[in-house]
Amino acid sequence: MPQGILVDYEWCSGCHTCEMACAVELTHKDFPEGHCGVKVHEEGVYPIGGDKWTDINMPVFTDLCDKCADRLAAGEALPSCVKHCQAHVLEFGELEELSKKLAAKPKQVLYAL
Ligand code: SF4
Ligand code: SF4
Repeated sequence: MPQGILVDYEWCSGCHTCEMACAVELTHKDFPEGHCGVKVHEEGVYPIGGDKWTDINMPVFTDLCDKCADRLAAGEALPSCVKHCQAHVLEFGELEELSKKLAAKPKQVLYAL
């Protein structure tokens, strides 16, 4: 079954732990400096009228992501980035199941990996 990662970016704190988890997991792959399988893009914090502010952070999966192939083949249940996200905004699973959750809430994106 095709798999993916669902991101609830409403609650992504922009902590970059997922990037570090990926870089450590795939350290043997000798990535270009500053790059790995996931990159968090920060829109920044700014007022959007009245007393409201916005702060959008978006993890983007890159061509360097190999879906933690060795890690999962070794029996781990979750990719490293998903396991180490302290905010629990990354969910790994089958695309069909994740697409149902995608429809249930705004400010989410689903990556087919
Ligand atoms: S799934 Fe694995 S390889 Fe892909 S970004 Fe996450 S930690 Fe990196
Ligand atoms: S996805 Fe999780 S680990 Fe990555 S920046 Fe957002 S909160 Fe941090």
